[in-house]
Amino acid sequence: MARIPAHIVDTILSTARIEEVIGEFVNLKRAGSNLKGLSPFTDEKTPSFMVSPAKQIFKCFSTGKGGTVVSFLMEKEHFSYPEALRWLANKYQIAVPEEEQTPEEKEEQSEKESLRIINEFAKSHFKQNLHEHQEGKTIGLSYFQERGYRLETIEKFELGYCLNSGKDLTEHALEKGYKLEYLEKVGLVKSKDDRHFDFFRGRVMFPIHSVTGRVLGFGGRILGNDKKTAKYFNSPESPIYNKSEILYGLYFAKGDIIKYDNCYLVEGYTDVISLYQAGISNVVSSSGTSLTREQIKLMRRYTQNITILYDGDAAGIKASFRGIDLILEEGLNVHVVLFPDGDDPDSYSKKVSTSELEDYIRENTKDFITFKAEMLLSEGTEDPSVRVKLIHDIVSSISLIPDQISRSVYAKEISERFEIDMNVVSQELASNRKKHLLESQRQTPANPDPVVQIRKEPIAQSTTSDKKKKEVYEEFDLIRIMIKYGAYAIEVDKQTEEGNFEPVETSVCELIVYELDRDELTFKNELYNRVYELVRNSLKESVVNKPSFFLRQEDPGIVRLATDIESDPYEISHNWLKQHNIDTKTELENLKVGVINAIYAFKTRRIADQIEILREQLLEAEKNKDNEQVEDLLAQQILLENVKMALANQLGRIILHG
Ligand code: ATP
Ligand code: MN
Repeated sequence: MARIPAHIVDTILSTARIEEVIGEFVNLKRAGSNLKGLSPFTDEKTPSFMVSPAKQIFKCFSTGKGGTVVSFLMEKEHFSYPEALRWLANKYQIAVPEEEQTPEEKEEQSEKESLRIINEFAKSHFKQNLHEHQEGKTIGLSYFQERGYRLETIEKFELGYCLNSGKDLTEHALEKGYKLEYLEKVGLVKSKDDRHFDFFRGRVMFPIHSVTGRVLGFGGRILGNDKKTAKYFNSPESPIYNKSEILYGLYFAKGDIIKYDNCYLVEGYTDVISLYQAGISNVVSSSGTSLTREQIKLMRRYTQNITILYDGDAAGIKASFRGIDLILEEGLNVHVVLFPDGDDPDSYSKKVSTSELEDYIRENTKDFITFKAEMLLSEGTEDPSVRVKLIHDIVSSISLIPDQISRSVYAKEISERFEIDMNVVSQELASNRKKHLLESQRQTPANPDPVVQIRKEPIAQSTTSDKKKKEVYEEFDLIRIMIKYGAYAIEVDKQTEEGNFEPVETSVCELIVYELDRDELTFKNELYNRVYELVRNSLKESVVNKPSFFLRQEDPGIVRLATDIESDPYEISHNWLKQHNIDTKTELENLKVGVINAIYAFKTRRIADQIEILREQLLEAEKNKDNEQVEDLLAQQILLENVKMALANQLGRIILHG
């Protein structure tokens, strides 16, 4: 997507009102100077979601999420940064000029746009047929109604009908001026010599929506049970329709997938629609393909939990086994519900009431180990060789999980459940991992799939020393001050040509950057370092002066941090602030002292760390009787102690050529 020029970004951000935008998604009520509502990120009964119109930020106390209007859209709609900006521009009718696009890009862009427009047209036409055309009403609409779809459901999913004449859509589209080439490209029109006809003739139509609700393609079902042609036709692959990267129903389900933190995965269009109508709205399907990695990655944008709902016949079981392994491999949690043999979610949901359906799903949801165990054991429960095969099979699935901690949790479960020594399970796991690694290396020698590759997980830091924690605080405090007061002016002493010091005005950020640069210090925490680098690079342009500077960044980590710091400080670091006797109310009055103290604390911590390292090296050198080394280290140590002493005097003074 083309870049949005900076001044347009500014216009968008200063025009957009967070309370208006969030108000489209959440029912907000006044609460003092803030607005309050139920969090859209979780299923809660008491409102914990706050919007501050004054600060233009939101904070969800249930999930800890927070940020600006842009971060809200990125969280809620899973937009990228430019997508969120474009959404806002559209809402507030701000024109976004496209720039930096090559002619080829422009052409490609406009071709894709043309294809989408054609699909949009076809969708409307099919809908119109279904609701207004005699044939559509008597054949299409009544078919859907016989299937038990209510009118509101038919409208929600924008179902339609393609007339049987074979040329209705083609003629209307050409009449409207749509290019034949494009009509063929999206698969709506087929040509033979000079004759052109509707590909989906005589079928009920299921439009397939993108995440943002645009129509990318169609599924068309034949009416009745004519065995001669395929029951379903699907749009062919096109520049806008890549079936392995699309999930049917995601557009309608995404909000509830986030809300319930679970995604139900079914086989087809009718399963999605029937479950949706029965009140189970967090449901998608991989219509027309067996589940792909891309589709799992798409679900992972919204949740870590997938529940497979398949038909309990042999094909359904086989598909669920395959699905389980793929999902585990992508690092997600997977559960399975099988419907009674011969029933799919669609047919089952019609036989029972909504509450019975919910009960069935709840009572039959199984974690993948239980599910596999039940499926495989039922073949020959007492036969030891069946048990052996089963355990190998389950361990093989577990070995696909990228996260080591999850793997060991499951390994323990296997060891307990099947009464096998933990060491044996671990060994089996390790050998499986090795096998996967070798396989993945063989498949892609240059760039092994990072999911299958054995990662070097850091060993859990259960013994994080207090020293380590403290250091984070010192880094945090400096960042906190930069974000909160970065633009404030303070007075420091600057050395004149003659060597005297005289007071000059500088900003908090400038002083901090000067002080850290002077000693070539950076932050150990990666996020803080990004903030610091941002400040450093922006100082020249003196843009840090705008109070909302940090909230306007593209980096979601920075926006989140700035939001936390902008919200009530007592929520973020209550204990720490208290522990250090920092009263944020008076902090501003003694800003210079506060800033200098924070820099001092940051630097002395670093020096103390270095001294600590030296001390250890010294012990080692003494043990080895390496006198030269000992002397060298001692000298370094003394130097550092001196630096520490001198630090207090120098701080806050800008020394020329320093
Ligand atoms: P029936 O009324 O005979 O049960 P159906 O329309 O429910 O037919 P099924 O054969 O039961 O279809 O298939 C189950 C699911 O799989 C349906 O939701 C359907 O949308 C989907 N499906 C089947 N075949 C295809 C296909 N070729 N392409 C895409 N989706 C398909
Ligand atoms: Mn069916």
